[in-house]
Amino acid sequence: MNFKSYTSGNYNTIPQISKLPDEIKHNIEIVSLILPFKVNNYVIDELIDWDNYENDPIFNLTFPQKEMLLPQHFNEMAAAKEQSNDKKYLSEVSNKIRLELNPNPAGQKEHNIPLIDNVKLYGVQHKYRETALFFPSAGQTCHSYCTYCFRWAQFVGIQQLKFAMKETELMVKYLEQHQEVTDLLFTGGDPMTMSYKVFKKYVDPFISDQNKTNIQTIRIGTKVLSYWPYKFLTDDDAADFLKLFETITSKGINLAFMAHFTHPAELGTEALKHSIQKLRNTGVQIRTQSPVVKHINDKPEIWADMWRKQENLNCIPYYMFIARNTGAQHYFAVPLFKAWEIFRKAYQNVSGVCRTVRGPSMSCTPGKVQILGVSEINQEKVFVLRFIQGRNPDWVARPFFAKYDENAIWMDTLKPAFEENFFFAEEEVKYFRENYYDSEMESFE
Ligand SMILES: *Cc1c(COP(=O)(O)O)cnc(C)c1O
Ligand code: SF4
Repeated sequence: MNFKSYTSGNYNTIPQISKLPDEIKHNIEIVSLILPFKVNNYVIDELIDWDNYENDPIFNLTFPQKEMLLPQHFNEMAAAKEQSNDKKYLSEVSNKIRLELNPNPAGQKEHNIPLIDNVKLYGVQHKYRETALFFPSAGQTCHSYCTYCFRWAQFVGIQQLKFAMKETELMVKYLEQHQEVTDLLFTGGDPMTMSYKVFKKYVDPFISDQNKTNIQTIRIGTKVLSYWPYKFLTDDDAADFLKLFETITSKGINLAFMAHFTHPAELGTEALKHSIQKLRNTGVQIRTQSPVVKHINDKPEIWADMWRKQENLNCIPYYMFIARNTGAQHYFAVPLFKAWEIFRKAYQNVSGVCRTVRGPSMSCTPGKVQILGVSEINQEKVFVLRFIQGRNPDWVARPFFAKYDENAIWMDTLKPAFEENFFFAEEEVKYFRENYYDSEMESFE
């Protein structure tokens, strides 16, 4: 199967598109001037049910919808397009709107950037002691784009928002000096958009006999199984990839795919089953994660079904995330109490083998905060929370409490219950004072 992708420039040539009403096509056109849009032939031909596209989860996952923009932003962009076809003018209007959409939530760009020999390593984030994130510059795209993507700003070409780096050399040097880092997580975009040749360059240092890092697990954050399972079946370098994975695992390194699956509709094709089988045969472990988002997967039955299907395919449920505060969050946001209800009801309906999943979890500046539930203490209704991961490892696994708020969709609006501050707040403010001098220290996103 040959990969063929469509973006705002040529989506009109998708055969199924011609049957859509003009209004839907107009909406796709306007929204995709601001937010990234890309879809491919596998998604179009094997995942979307075109007879029922309005309610189809994968159509909603990949095709822009009008309501993803606030009405004033949509109208402004539509008016600009009506007025002119000048590319420069349209991109000015579009960039202005983009900057109003919180393009870099939770300090993705500037925080947690390590220093080596006084040089900032822009392709690396080291927030949690044992795990470093690596954004290889060659993996900053995906086989299709998710409408709710929180890394969307990287794909629309606002140069200063890109935080990829070219060389592995500095990263390896950093990891050699930081033996506490056992896990290296390749992320993006999707690192599995890389060709074999390029990907091999990035992992070679870890399988070489000269390896002096303490990397024991290499994780790959990817949606390739969902968007392009043919990667490991019919792509030219499929066999090379599988052989390389086998080499890595035979060195005693745990190679884990952190596979992003949003909906059970992604789990039914022969290509997917076959691809998972091939990967498993190389010793790759597959864990799964996704945000919970309105219009796509905000029902407990969907999650229970998804976890069970994943388990049947030998994939281990890992995280349920809350959608981040960026881009089209207003459209996709699920209130925190509702996310917990979805999680709880789904969790209650699966057996122990699926209960490896943790969530719902928010990746905020201080750490990953899990909503353990809603409870009442001294007649006060509260959210019970805990860190799954924390900037300070000592914060992890300690329950803490926030005032219940049925409208809350993110950590930034939660207020501590009982106490004046969250237990980690003082340290967090101190951290920001020492590292940053901007207004961000006022709140944690
Ligand atoms: C989630 C995450 C990790 C990985 O955390 P684990 O709990 O080990 O899966 C690493 N870095 C950042 C910034 C993260 O958000
Ligand atoms: S796969 Fe991940 S990085 Fe790529 S578009 Fe989807 S959410 Fe964004």
